[in-house]
Amino acid sequence: MFSNQEFAVRRENLCAAFPVAGIDALLVTHLPNIRYLTGFKGSNGILAHLFTDPRYTLQAGRETECVVHTVRGPLLPKVSEALKRRRLKRIGFEKDRILFETHRLLCEKLGLAAELVPATNLVEDLRMVKSGNEIELIRKAVNTNSAALAAALKRFRAGMTEAALAAEIEYRMRILGAECASFETIVASGANAALPHYRPANQPIQPDRLLLIDMGATLSGYSSDMTRTVSAGDPGRFWKRTYNAVLEAQLAAIDSVRPGVRAAKPDQVARQVLAKSGLEKHFTHAIGHGLGLEIHESPRLGKKVKTTLQEGMVITIEPGVYLEGKGGIRIEDMVLVTRNGCEVLTPTTKELTSI
Ligand code: ZN
Ligand code: ZN
Repeated sequence: MFSNQEFAVRRENLCAAFPVAGIDALLVTHLPNIRYLTGFKGSNGILAHLFTDPRYTLQAGRETECVVHTVRGPLLPKVSEALKRRRLKRIGFEKDRILFETHRLLCEKLGLAAELVPATNLVEDLRMVKSGNEIELIRKAVNTNSAALAAALKRFRAGMTEAALAAEIEYRMRILGAECASFETIVASGANAALPHYRPANQPIQPDRLLLIDMGATLSGYSSDMTRTVSAGDPGRFWKRTYNAVLEAQLAAIDSVRPGVRAAKPDQVARQVLAKSGLEKHFTHAIGHGLGLEIHESPRLGKKVKTTLQEGMVITIEPGVYLEGKGGIRIEDMVLVTRNGCEVLTPTTKELTSI
């Protein structure tokens, strides 16, 4: 799937960021970051990535140990010994990804031999821009997710519960080749859809109401994410109008996605559209997020984000409107930033469909 060469390039790119971060090595503890840099998929591992001197950036990336050390018992004492042996002075650690106790133990083991330097997002920033191989895997995850929704909706019956439909969706994902759901599937009927992170209950899906489904299938480690709001019967004029307003906001936001644009732009654009029908105040979350090896990754797409969109980023665009006690609508697609604009990856229709 990924060649050793691709992992080596990723590690080279990481090494290139060390001088700016003021570190000689980075202790990578966040498992998706370890997987990204080495392909290692286990649930316990620490990667100590070595940096010698800027002249050796390329070499360090190619050569540094992806030698595997198998340790019985806790990893940290061995890691600290190895760091000490190499006489590294400034060792970066992923400050948002490490337990307080791990940090305390490291300090204790390293003593005065080296300084621990907090680093942030070094690997995450690399992960924002996807390679051609990663994009292919993401396409497969997205297509599997859409196929699972279509297959599950065929089995929809009046009186079916939210929980049963959620289970059917996840079953279809697995049958179609997904490793797992990228997150707990949301199936929210009627007023329940007003809660953006609702958990499906053993409650029958109500007739003539909207039904919000948010789902993702993970394939080869890569996540997907899609929300569709469908109607179980006839939801009435008000909800059809509101649906069209959310769809208009979503399409306008997608239209604004291109390289060089601030990541905050799609959110602003969607809010402007929703404001026309007085719905902006009911759009209560950010418009989207990056995704890949994790379901939520950089870039974030909130109002205040300063990141700039770049070719190769994969993001969601998911405006929503939530009316407490009444219902909610969200429409979510996955979008790839291309050289001149963007490509919507999600193939599922966004016309308000009746099931
Ligand atoms: Zn999402
Ligand atoms: Zn979602």
